[in-house]
Amino acid sequence: MRRSIFGDDHESFRSSCRAFLDKNVAPHIETYIAEKGLPREFWTSAGEQGLLGLEIPEEFGGSEAGDFRFNAVFAEELSRVSAALSSCVSIHADIAVPYIVDLGTQEQKERWLPGCASGEILTAIAMTEPGGGSDLAALKTTAVRDGDEWVINGSKTFITNGYSADLIVTAVRTSPEKGAKGITLFGIEATDPGFSRGRKLDKVGQTESDTAELFFENVRLGDDRVIGEVDRGFIAMMERLPQERLIVAVANVAHAKQILAETIQYAKERQAFGQPIGSFQHNQFLLAEQTTAIEVAEAYVDAAVAAHSDKELSSVDAAKAKFWSSDVQNTVLDHCVQIHGGYGFMNEYRVARAWRDARVTRIWAGSNEIMKMLVGRDLGL
Ligand SMILES: Cc1cc2nc3c(=O)[nH]c(=O)nc-3n(C[C@H](O)[C@H](O)[C@H](O)COP(=O)(O)OP(=O)(O)OC[C@H]3O[C@@H](n4cnc5c(N)ncnc54)[C@H](O)[C@@H]3O)c2cc1C
Repeated sequence: MRRSIFGDDHESFRSSCRAFLDKNVAPHIETYIAEKGLPREFWTSAGEQGLLGLEIPEEFGGSEAGDFRFNAVFAEELSRVSAALSSCVSIHADIAVPYIVDLGTQEQKERWLPGCASGEILTAIAMTEPGGGSDLAALKTTAVRDGDEWVINGSKTFITNGYSADLIVTAVRTSPEKGAKGITLFGIEATDPGFSRGRKLDKVGQTESDTAELFFENVRLGDDRVIGEVDRGFIAMMERLPQERLIVAVANVAHAKQILAETIQYAKERQAFGQPIGSFQHNQFLLAEQTTAIEVAEAYVDAAVAAHSDKELSSVDAAKAKFWSSDVQNTVLDHCVQIHGGYGFMNEYRVARAWRDARVTRIWAGSNEIMKMLVGRDLGL
């Protein structure tokens, strides 16, 4: 199906993203996987190309496209190369940085945004704690007032870019008695005394992204590190989670679409019983179904991208896009592994890695069960 949301500007941006990734990034994926993370040169070279500043105003070194379709194009191109690349970049450029752009003071913007655009300051967002991620309102990391300062204690886990981030947008409880209305966002820098991180977590997939546990032991910060208003952090997160879920949905579809295209090619080439395996009717029907499933999911996600670009995407529709796209992605990739036979189970095959990489998309950014809860509530249930 012909897609209608992108115009010439988006397609020319796509060509430059693709040229950059094919030349500077794709050849190094094996190294990134071996090192369980992206080197700083990846970030600074993406910054030089102007790819990290789509959300950042020009006065702070960005290009502030003001059109989410550009973010979607970049996420699609990253996903084509590796699912983890897209996750790491989106956490920085589409998810953490917008908190500073939207809620930061002039001083915070001057301090952080130019580095965020150039790739010299890498960001992460820390909501999830060892005790739980789904029930965000119950988080336990605290900031207690002591004179002019806040004293932060607690820990976060599963934080994407957590091992290498310079700045972590961190959700912290400032008013214990106020539940969801007692959470504040802080900008914690990796050099702040009392901040430390654990090892790179050993994940089933998305090996080339670094994911870490973070610890805060009497981290003392002034009011200048509060992002937005005290006790308004939960609302700030709720307002921005639709963008996070949408970019995840874009990446899910693009990732599965790419691997499916490679699988169709494989089915044309691989022979069994003297004929291409794709010519067996079972496989032909299977690949027809998966292609259709991707195109239908893509049409919904495209509509959500267009709505978000017009500032009209609801949190419920973002939730639908997130859970549906991740279910479709996982189903499609499982079939792609099957079509590859034994090779589909070998780590050196992209399809095997993609299958492992996809599993987390049903868990993170709000699990699919939490997404369905949001949709169910909207139905008045
Ligand atoms: C690789 C990776 C990267 C991540 N990156 C980040 C990051 O950068 N920043 C960040 O803050 N977090 C991050 N996360 C955390 C992620 O968002 C959480 O894992 C997720 O929100 C689920 O939280 P949990 O793991 O604590 O599971 P739990 O909240 O303990 O849930 C366990 C299970 O119970 C289900 N469940 C919970 N409540 C309900 C309910 N009411 N109804 C039905 N089912 C329910 C869940 O759906 C899940 O299946 C990452 C996770 C992974 C694995």
